[in-house]
Amino acid sequence: MGAPTVLILGGTAEARALAATLDAAGVVVLSSLAGRVARPRLPVGAVRIGGFGGPDALADWLVEHGIERVVDATHPFAERISGSAVHACGVAQIPLLRLERPGWTAGPEDRWHWVDDLPQAETALRELGARRVLLTSGRQGLAAFTANADAWFLIRCVDPPAPADLPPQHEVLLDRGPYTLEGELGLIDSHAVDTIVTKDSGGPLTEAKLHAARARGLPVIVVRRPPRADVETVATVDDAAGWVLSQR
Ligand code: NAP
Repeated sequence: MGAPTVLILGGTAEARALAATLDAAGVVVLSSLAGRVARPRLPVGAVRIGGFGGPDALADWLVEHGIERVVDATHPFAERISGSAVHACGVAQIPLLRLERPGWTAGPEDRWHWVDDLPQAETALRELGARRVLLTSGRQGLAAFTANADAWFLIRCVDPPAPADLPPQHEVLLDRGPYTLEGELGLIDSHAVDTIVTKDSGGPLTEAKLHAARARGLPVIVVRRPPRADVETVATVDDAAGWVLSQR
């Protein structure tokens, strides 16, 4: 088996699925993870872990390692690595594809409040008079809620957050999806949750909380996705695999 010529920037279920699909099709891929979580779910095939050292260093790395195509399948909120990929692939003249799952869409019964970032989410919580909050935005950015002494927070994340970032009243729940409607309803009911905060991550693995909120008539504060560079983008693993295979 030769050296990989396709780099998948990963850390998502779609990235793992793409690695598996391409591997099954005989394409030698290398997946890259940031190394953020203590026990990452590993994709099929070769894996490297850790940052590249910024956009220019990534460009050098791509050339040194003979990478011929890059698929940026990172999370919709992983802004910096996507920006690095655009810069690096531009400099190194390597084709880049963005694989990004569609965001979530509210239905008529949903009570969603869209905000641009976590500080705005904190403001929205105060405006709504939230007292019992299920916070599912991850451990990064929690500092936006540190000063909120009015509400109690159930903070769900994969790895423990930094203690300095925690609000005065909280409980940390270490967990990782996929989540079920039954499980989310149980969490809401047993903790008397009155408001949910989420990023617009999209996808089926973590959307049960939105169905649970609808069932209980709860407001959800949804953080919009950050703006993206204009890059060729597909929404499905099959389309991303097709792009790689068509360029062989
Ligand atoms: P980020 O802010 O865009 O990236 C910060 C830095 O981490 C990047 O500049 C890069 O370091 C390094 N990095 C990020 N992703 C990498 C990858 N796949 N391979 C190698 N280096 C990577 O990213 P983040 O929001 O911290 O997310 C980190 C990872 O977790 C991403 O891979 C993402 O797919 C995954 N993830 C993120 C979220 C989220 O809500 N943000 C949720 C689920 C999973 P250098 O500049 O040194 O190259």
